[in-house]
Amino acid sequence: MIQMQGVYKTYRNGVTALNGLDVQIDQGEFVYVVGPSGAGKSTFTKLIYREEKPTNGTVFINDINTSTMKQRRIPMLRRQIGVVYQDFRLLPTLTVYENVAFALEVIEEDTANIRRRVMDVLDQVHLKNKARFLPDELSGGEQQRVSIARAMVNHPKILIADEPTGNLDPDTSWEIMHILEEINTGGTTVLMATHSREIVNTIRKRVIAIEDGMIVRDQAQGDYGYEM
Ligand code: ADP
Ligand code: ADP
Repeated sequence: MIQMQGVYKTYRNGVTALNGLDVQIDQGEFVYVVGPSGAGKSTFTKLIYREEKPTNGTVFINDINTSTMKQRRIPMLRRQIGVVYQDFRLLPTLTVYENVAFALEVIEEDTANIRRRVMDVLDQVHLKNKARFLPDELSGGEQQRVSIARAMVNHPKILIADEPTGNLDPDTSWEIMHILEEINTGGTTVLMATHSREIVNTIRKRVIAIEDGMIVRDQAQGDYGYEM
């Protein structure tokens, strides 16, 4: 599903963010990506949705090499991948419903179908009753749930969450984790970059630790592993 072989990434300014990465992640896995700031975690996730290409080595997503794939196939790749950010990135002038519907790849679907798909995914994140709200009328946890709904509305095979609980209080963070677990149980591969020792050590999953652009640890049912 996700396969990287000998991956190096040097940005134009000369900074080497990834320094020889080999990894395989199978469909349906839940993976935490941990490591210090600047270690290369975001770069690693950007290679997956092809916001960046490797300088060297290969990245395969569902057997497609992201470096040699045709430009016109990139939207198709991105539709298989949902992304959730620490700072939510909702459009402030659109309602909850509109934020989610906006992300829907509409291929000649009638309005009733679109409405059903948006409301289904809002139901999944327990926000059906706030469809008409604007983002700033919601708590942080609710905004993050909207952003998860937006990421999931096209039923992607992979969900990437870049510090999804970074701006949330502990109770709200656990809520978000339960939603991510439910999504994973539904078969979606979840990749979550996080600095939360408590979450990683409580909800045990595979842990990939990145330092200086290299995988220094890859553990099934791993722990957070860094001192505070
Ligand atoms: P992390 O997510 O673990 O904090 P990043 O992947 O964001 O790490 O960054 C890894 C290194 O690459 C850092 O030194 C960072 O400054 C650098 N970097 C990240 N993005 C860019 C970019 N677009 N251009 C230049 N350097 C970058
Ligand atoms: P949290 O502590 O989880 O961040 P808040 O105290 O911000 O939650 O919000 C609690 C409830 O009040 C939430 O259900 C949220 O939707 C609602 N709420 C918060 N701010 C507003 C607002 N400006 N307008 C309408 N509802 C709001």
